[in-house]
Amino acid sequence: MAEKKEARIGVFVCHCGTNIAGSIDVEAVKEYARTLPNVVHADDYQYVCSTPGQTMITDAIKEHDLTGTVVAACSPRLHEPTFRMATKVGGLNPFRFEMANIREQNSWVHMHDREGATEKAKDAVRIAVAKASLLEDLIPKSVPVEHAAMVVGGGVAGMQAALDLGNAGIKTYLIERSPTIGGRMSQLDKTFPTLDCSQCILTPKMVDVGRNENIELMTYTEVAEVEGYIGNFEITLRKKARGVLTPDEAEARGIVGGGCNGCGDCVEVCPVIKGNEFEFEMAPRKAIYIYHPQVVPNLYTVDFNTCIKCGLCVEACGEKKAIDLEMVDELIKVKVGTAILATGYDLFPIENKTEWGYKKYENVITGLEFERLICASGPTGGHLVRPSDGETPKKVAFVLCAGSRDNTGVGKPYCSRFCCMYSLKHAHQIIEKIPGAQPYLLYMDIRSFGKMYEEFYYRIQDEGAKFIRGRVANILEDPVTKNLHVFTEDTLLQRPIDLEVDMVVLASAVQPTTGADAVRKLFGVSCSQDGWMLEAHPKLNPCGTTTAGVFLAGVCQGPKDIPDTVAQAEGAASAASIPIHRGEVELEPYFAQCNEELCAGCGMCVNLCPYSALALVEKDGRKVMEVTEAKCKGCGTCGGFCPGGAIHMQHFTTPQIVAQIDAFLLGGEQ
Ligand code: FAD
Ligand code: SF4
Ligand code: SF4
Ligand code: SF4
Ligand code: SF4
Ligand code: SF4
Ligand code: SF4
Repeated sequence: MAEKKEARIGVFVCHCGTNIAGSIDVEAVKEYARTLPNVVHADDYQYVCSTPGQTMITDAIKEHDLTGTVVAACSPRLHEPTFRMATKVGGLNPFRFEMANIREQNSWVHMHDREGATEKAKDAVRIAVAKASLLEDLIPKSVPVEHAAMVVGGGVAGMQAALDLGNAGIKTYLIERSPTIGGRMSQLDKTFPTLDCSQCILTPKMVDVGRNENIELMTYTEVAEVEGYIGNFEITLRKKARGVLTPDEAEARGIVGGGCNGCGDCVEVCPVIKGNEFEFEMAPRKAIYIYHPQVVPNLYTVDFNTCIKCGLCVEACGEKKAIDLEMVDELIKVKVGTAILATGYDLFPIENKTEWGYKKYENVITGLEFERLICASGPTGGHLVRPSDGETPKKVAFVLCAGSRDNTGVGKPYCSRFCCMYSLKHAHQIIEKIPGAQPYLLYMDIRSFGKMYEEFYYRIQDEGAKFIRGRVANILEDPVTKNLHVFTEDTLLQRPIDLEVDMVVLASAVQPTTGADAVRKLFGVSCSQDGWMLEAHPKLNPCGTTTAGVFLAGVCQGPKDIPDTVAQAEGAASAASIPIHRGEVELEPYFAQCNEELCAGCGMCVNLCPYSALALVEKDGRKVMEVTEAKCKGCGTCGGFCPGGAIHMQHFTTPQIVAQIDAFLLGGEQ
């Protein structure tokens, strides 16, 4: 064991341009640091994270024979790894570094109190020095990484991520809860701003996913349980009873040449008819069904909630013997190194905004219903008709920001980001398809921020769409004609408006899909206050999460259009593949350690650990607690609880914390 040296701490105070120096007297903080116990060197610099700033640290470590460093700068979330590396390059163990946050927690919030902010910065530096004086060398643990990944959600985000991972030679499980991949994009007719057909660009991707030899496509499947940590996630999947066998499953049961070939004979005979969810109930489906002709896999599904088990489908299927009405859910365990969540979105239930009459007036529909009605493969063969009478609408109002940018408490405060653009697209589609049609866009602002989006906006203006700026107050139906009166105010002309139209399309807000909360909790991912899954850092790590090895792609992280979704999916796939290609990962050495001599084996800490990292084991005839270091996240719950003080929290030891508290309470008088 190396001989314990007297603490010799170096303090480096950052100006961050005027970010810190504008509100804090950096020179005074540096001079104060020089007076603190154990501090043998203190300096300041304009930008400590810059190369010269880091060199200043590495040089000082050597020159002053430092045992630890303190940087007073921004949040550790931003630059802790930078300064750990500088400390290491200087010849110290990288964990002999402590950061004092004097920017986010100080200069940025005390802009108008320079004196107070400077005193607070001195406190932060004093507390950090107290801890740094007691820091120990820590050795990170390396664990092997399973050469496999999982993607949860088979929309365009999940498909893209799975394809990238599969093409990089990584075994990838693509988990989709519905019977087919494709997500919302398969419900769209055309896509802005290029107006290319959604299915035409999506279907080849779906087929590629189905054919990729590294992708194991598991549709009608959900994640039931997640255990483990980066490199070694053990995931239990629930494969829901589909009632129909694939050719491979049939072969495994000894049915030669059997399994579903997608012939559809079963559908012809099934007596049960219900609404097709894919078509928003605007078309029927049977109890045995596929959503649309391009489904991948091309496999039928029995809806056991409505099936009356009459057996007619089994008869129609004949020798293929593809239908098993007694099938039950199956639990499957897989092991993966990393995971990507791509669970997408649902529409906000816009009927909650009762003033707009959705689900009350037949001719008020949502943007997604419009997509199905205008789509050639939709319930009306692409003829836009009014649900009330099947007539072609001529005057159509598009209500933008329906439920978005809404602080009334009923809607969502955020912008849903793609509804301006798809409403422009919808306006174009009716002008193109219906001679003499007049679209009205009732908007607050038009947000056409993407590449070629502004040009698309001008084009729709030129095509004759009318734009009325103002928030729609309410919509009322004429009970005889079923026409709708849209009451709004034109804020540019400053006059109230009663606009009579044949149909209203609500550009509804979007929200995280049902069940997204449960999935993210299984993977230990947080969410922002509006419910979207939370990225590790909005700018520096937009695909990562605070759970190592878990990444995000697509709208589950926040509303975004298809180009942004695909770009993020590619980023997430790349990030998820790095640990897998490396083959091993280093875990932060902040885990708990049990002093077996002090442990009474009471077992009370075991159930407190939120990460199942603790277990009682038999050793030398008595029970003691054992930590699985790779599972421990260093949260400190067990350390704070143990009545016998048997748990040592690395990097957050009791003496270190006590020294920090003393430094805070006693000021310079310790
Ligand atoms: P989704 O498409 O929602 O896919 C998520 C997938 O995850 C689904 O298949 C879902 O079943 C699955 N899933 C969810 N939860 C689970 C779970 N727990 N386990 C397993 N699987 C799960 N964008 C454009 O760029 N151009 C357009 O023209 C355009 N038009 C639009 C029109 C309308 C009316 C709307 C509402 C949106 C439009 N968009 C458009 C936006 C586009 O729909 C999204 O950008 C895109 O669908 C996002 O894809 P995603 O994969 O993130 O999510
Ligand atoms: Fe700004 Fe942090 Fe860099 Fe200093 S270390 S310049 S506070 S970003
Ligand atoms: Fe055809 Fe049988 Fe498949 Fe139905 S289940 S589509 S009848 S093969
Ligand atoms: Fe339809 Fe179920 Fe009868 Fe098959 S058994 S035909 S799925 S109702
Ligand atoms: Fe409103 Fe446009 Fe934002 Fe949608 S994208 S919420 S319509 S501003
Ligand atoms: Fe009990 Fe502490 Fe031992 Fe846990 S570590 S079993 S709480 S004595
Ligand atoms: Fe579990 Fe937290 Fe203790 Fe680690 S520190 S063993 S994660 S309770």
